[in-house]
Amino acid sequence: MKPPHPGSLATTCLAALTLCCAHTASAAPLYSLAPPQAALARRLAHLQLGLHVGVELAALALLILLLESGLAQRVAHAVAQSSSRAWLQTILFVAALLLLLNGCILLPADAIRHSALLQAGISVQSWPAWLRDQALITLLMLVVGTPVLVLARWLLTRSPRRAWLWFWLASIPVILAAAFVLPQLVEPLFNHFEPLADSHPQLVKQFQRVVARTGTPIPPQRMFLMRASSKVNGFNAYVSGLGPTQRIVVWDTTADRMPADEILFILAHECGHYVLHHLLWGLTLGILGTLLLLWLTFLLAHRLLRLRGHRWRIQSLDSLSGLVVVLLALVLLEILSEPIGNSISRAFEHQADVYAQEALHGIVPDPQTTAVAAFQQLGQAWLEDPNPNPLVVFWTFDHPSIQSRANFAAHYNPWIAGGHPRFFSAPQETPAAGTRNPLH
Ligand SMILES: [Zn+2]
Repeated sequence: MKPPHPGSLATTCLAALTLCCAHTASAAPLYSLAPPQAALARRLAHLQLGLHVGVELAALALLILLLESGLAQRVAHAVAQSSSRAWLQTILFVAALLLLLNGCILLPADAIRHSALLQAGISVQSWPAWLRDQALITLLMLVVGTPVLVLARWLLTRSPRRAWLWFWLASIPVILAAAFVLPQLVEPLFNHFEPLADSHPQLVKQFQRVVARTGTPIPPQRMFLMRASSKVNGFNAYVSGLGPTQRIVVWDTTADRMPADEILFILAHECGHYVLHHLLWGLTLGILGTLLLLWLTFLLAHRLLRLRGHRWRIQSLDSLSGLVVVLLALVLLEILSEPIGNSISRAFEHQADVYAQEALHGIVPDPQTTAVAAFQQLGQAWLEDPNPNPLVVFWTFDHPSIQSRANFAAHYNPWIAGGHPRFFSAPQETPAAGTRNPLH
């Protein structure tokens, strides 16, 4: 349910169209901020975009610099002198490369972002706590990234022409396992989770009315509260996990600070992701997209080697410094294919918005008003720019803009005569006019 923000460098990209990426101009904007907040939101949006583009360009520049200066080759030579074991050489070289990228680019960019969010009052996380999270992220990057690149080099050595295919096949169980264990092993490293029913039984009760309409059982054991308020003032909820570990998580900021009906809209949106199997679809498309991405990376890396290999003194991709060429090709393709993955993500988000609005019909007095109010609350909490550039939305947003979501919600009423709901046929209950749900 997150508000829109630029996707990460590592976004896996695929092919698709978006249902709602277009910026919707309106004479009277449905989502708006007071002038001082609007100015601050614009500055934040510019900063976020600058960091997003800056990180991508800096990563490309650093990798090119390593190759052009001969530094990659010299470090590879030094590492090769330190051990005769190929796997140990690869681990040392890859770890040094990842630490360099993280220390020179990702960490400073995130520090700037954190500082801006602190000043804007969106983040409340202390710098020591932020540093602890960064240390964990770096550790995870090494634990995951090093074996991945060691495997890539080993496959390039064994099968120079089909390494991309074997690597893709090996990645499938890893991607599925990662999605499975994410909510149980990784997410608790960064935040505290507890059953939603422990502290918000009334919310669970109200939520079950929405769940009952969906026809898909989502037991309270799959609803969790995340203690986000120690780090951030923004609102959010999300779905994560796979199969038996799939769950709906709502932040305590959302559960404690948003009005009751608006919380139900956000939870109904997550129900949409859950019921429509968006995570499974995302994984499937991600795996197929990875196949295309790896094949293109392999082709581009060979092309780069043919063009510049002599200058870089690199003869093959399975050498240590050859991995830098592979990484350069991968980063370049990730950047170019970023809008594809984000377009698919926005399409899923729009579908979940439609689902939520239909699911709430008969449960809240006016789903259109409730949805618009929820988007206003979300936008205010995250200081979202009310008028983002359409090209920026298309290229970098993994959610539609808040303005376009609010605009769609205000005009979407499939229950009027001649309307055609996409997911529900008829309401099962109708509240008394003006009755709001009594959560707190
Ligand atoms: Zn969503």
